[in-house]
Amino acid sequence: MRASTRRIATFLETLCLLAFGLPVLGAARDLTFFLVSDVHAGMQYKNSEPPITAAAYEQHLVDTLDVIATIPGRPWPQGPVAEAMQGLGPVGKPSGLIVAGDLTQSRAAVQWKDFDRLFPWQGLAPKRFPVFAGAGNHDAGSKTGPVRDALRARNQAMLKAGQLSTLSSDGLHSAWVWQGVHFVNVNLYAGDAPQPGEKPGSMRDPEGSLTFLRTYLAKNAPAPTPVVIIQHFGLDKSTWWTQDERRALYAAITNYNVVAILHGHTHAITHLQFPGAEDLKVFGQGGPRFDCFSAGAFKQETKKGQPWPGWRHPCECYVFHLTDNQFVAALYTGGTNGWYTGRGEAELQVVKALSPGK
Ligand SMILES: [Zn+2]
Repeated sequence: MRASTRRIATFLETLCLLAFGLPVLGAARDLTFFLVSDVHAGMQYKNSEPPITAAAYEQHLVDTLDVIATIPGRPWPQGPVAEAMQGLGPVGKPSGLIVAGDLTQSRAAVQWKDFDRLFPWQGLAPKRFPVFAGAGNHDAGSKTGPVRDALRARNQAMLKAGQLSTLSSDGLHSAWVWQGVHFVNVNLYAGDAPQPGEKPGSMRDPEGSLTFLRTYLAKNAPAPTPVVIIQHFGLDKSTWWTQDERRALYAAITNYNVVAILHGHTHAITHLQFPGAEDLKVFGQGGPRFDCFSAGAFKQETKKGQPWPGWRHPCECYVFHLTDNQFVAALYTGGTNGWYTGRGEAELQVVKALSPGK
């Protein structure tokens, strides 16, 4: 759609919203959402110099959230993203803030309480957006630990409020729809049984999430319906999940229009392809490759007993925007230019066409 045509369409939709209080049936998609990860609520570094106390760490989380709250209304970054967004104005209010796992440092009940208070699922206008959170390896350890139980309760409350549309039978994995885009949260990673020798509920048990994903996609999201998958582990070949599990995920999503896979765990800001170039011998040439995004982390690190490399940028947040025919991703860090600049900048910004599909 040309910029001028889109402006007229947006004007008409606004008029209908004002007049009738309802969105126009079949209105153009104008979807914004954010991705962050690896909060590690409850973390502290007693032995670093200077020490980072629990209170200081929590203040860091609050400050980071406050920076993220300033993203809506900002102009898009110069370059391909700004060009693609011409006529669509600045960053819109996000439908939600997705948190891709490691919500707590060590799955303690008190740490969950901190996370739940700082990242309320309902949001808290105007500075906190609705939160969609998944479990990471730091939140695992048993099927009935305090974080798992609390996540299930939170999912139930979100389902009741209409913020989620589908839950797995155990209440852990979830799905929802924003403006025709289907989101599936498989928590740790997409897989079914614990890895060999691992206990149920451990940090290497995906708890049936691949079956949940497969069933959900078959029922709700035949191609070209756009799909976004959220998991904690990165999609690269790592020691955290097996090559067979990665191949099973690839087989499960090959025939669907998965427009993005969002993840955490690596604490690195990345935009990579799944399968990666090194996988093609095993996965086969010529098949689809999926865009995977990691926003980095909330968590401060220390090195040789000292804070390193300083508080995160002061925030690391991927911002996505989808229309009916276009997908845009850019990384906001709150630095000098607001948007991330530096190594890999060009690869981190993504503009691509979307197959039409509701
Ligand atoms: Zn992790």
